[in-house]
Amino acid sequence: MSVDETYAPSVAEFAETARSWLAERLEPADESSEVWGEGSDDVSVFHCLSFEEERNLLRRLMEWQQEKFDAGYGAITWPVRYGGAGLTPEHERVYRSIESDFKAPGGHETFAVTTGLIAPTVRLFGTDAQQERFVRRFLRADELCCQLFSEPGAGSDLAGLGTSVVRDGNEWVVNGQKVWSSGAQFSGWGELIARSDPGVAKHAGMTAFLVPMDAPGVEVRPIRQMSGGSSFNEVFFNDVRLGDELRLGEVGQGWKVALATLGFERGGTGGRGVGGSWERLLGLARWLDRTGEPVMRQKLASVYIHQRLQSFNRSRIQASAESGRPPGPEGSTGKLAWVQGLTEIGSVAAELLGARITADTGEWGTFAWSEHLLGAPGYRIAGGSDEIQRNIIGERVLGLPGEPRSDRGAWRDIAR
Ligand SMILES: Cc1cc2nc3c(=O)[nH]c(=O)nc-3n(C[C@H](O)[C@H](O)[C@H](O)COP(=O)(O)OP(=O)(O)OC[C@H]3O[C@@H](n4cnc5c(N)ncnc54)[C@H](O)[C@@H]3O)c2cc1C
Repeated sequence: MSVDETYAPSVAEFAETARSWLAERLEPADESSEVWGEGSDDVSVFHCLSFEEERNLLRRLMEWQQEKFDAGYGAITWPVRYGGAGLTPEHERVYRSIESDFKAPGGHETFAVTTGLIAPTVRLFGTDAQQERFVRRFLRADELCCQLFSEPGAGSDLAGLGTSVVRDGNEWVVNGQKVWSSGAQFSGWGELIARSDPGVAKHAGMTAFLVPMDAPGVEVRPIRQMSGGSSFNEVFFNDVRLGDELRLGEVGQGWKVALATLGFERGGTGGRGVGGSWERLLGLARWLDRTGEPVMRQKLASVYIHQRLQSFNRSRIQASAESGRPPGPEGSTGKLAWVQGLTEIGSVAAELLGARITADTGEWGTFAWSEHLLGAPGYRIAGGSDEIQRNIIGERVLGLPGEPRSDRGAWRDIAR
């Protein structure tokens, strides 16, 4: 299918063309992918790969996105101006469902951040020139872009961040440190939020930029995680000079830019195929012959009910997004529910496995669960911790009184 502004296929017509396009390129999905003992038993939440393996995985994903994008399936609901197909969310949903019938390359956080979080943020806040330069590049995954938000002293309290950016003529000079920057070692660009005015209230003194990760003075140091991989990094800025054309949004508007990116992140969580699934958990319980135990049956039923409720919640969030509403606090309920489900699946698997989760016996589908168990807590923190999501729900959904604040006044005067 070619991207033609005047051509809008019906959903049925689109589905037929998409199915044959996919069939020409991909193998059908393995019916046996959830059959116990067959295929890969990987249930990891985060990749546990060497640098080269992770880079190669990302390359494959980027190439696949480029192929899809050029055929009109990579940015289905995006306007033609950005290289999208200009079709409806229904077309998108149908495409995803058809693609799941095939063995498409898997996923990666940095890839999703680039196409799903940063491309729409640049569309919202970028100048015409920035939109021209970046949106299509990011949507097509020609280059990846990471989030340079958190700092050693600013995570939940992101608005307290201290990396400084100082204007120098038509340039800006950045100094400071970011941390937990997922995929920074593979990214060509980073969305940076930095403090441009320490003399005003903390939310008002930040400015956003798009930073080339190979700029002189940017240093990326990978961090080793307890599960073995190195998904995220420390990023240091030493007198990094950025042209004003790389500023994203107005001076002092950095908080608004950050909130938009975080909104896309929370609105989008809840559907990722990471970690062990309900089907795999049930397979494990059956293989261990534990489904007849009343207490275990209750636990399995609880996991199943949670997964079903979560899928209804996901549909609600999707319907809200499709009606054109900007991402709102309902993303917090979606994120909490998803993480709770991930945690519950891991703890029931650990209970089923007993000692097998601590030492590899070589049996298919057993020790592999240790990767799920060690990875799941990361998502209780990433994208805003559970406690912060609950604060958002309390204040913005339930209308409860806000937390006591001791951080009013100029950022530079706040005790740290
Ligand atoms: C897997 C993963 C990937 C990440 N990727 C990125 C990335 O790509 N880019 C990026 O910039 N950052 C990233 N992060 C960082 C993430 O956004 C922060 O870790 C998160 O915001 C929490 O901040 P913190 O680690 O500083 O913890 P803190 O803010 O120090 O929190 C410590 C504890 O105190 C609790 N707490 C803090 N404030 C409150 C409060 N007001 N009320 C109640 N409880 C509170 C928290 O819930 C938490 O339990 C990632 C983190 C993880 C785990």
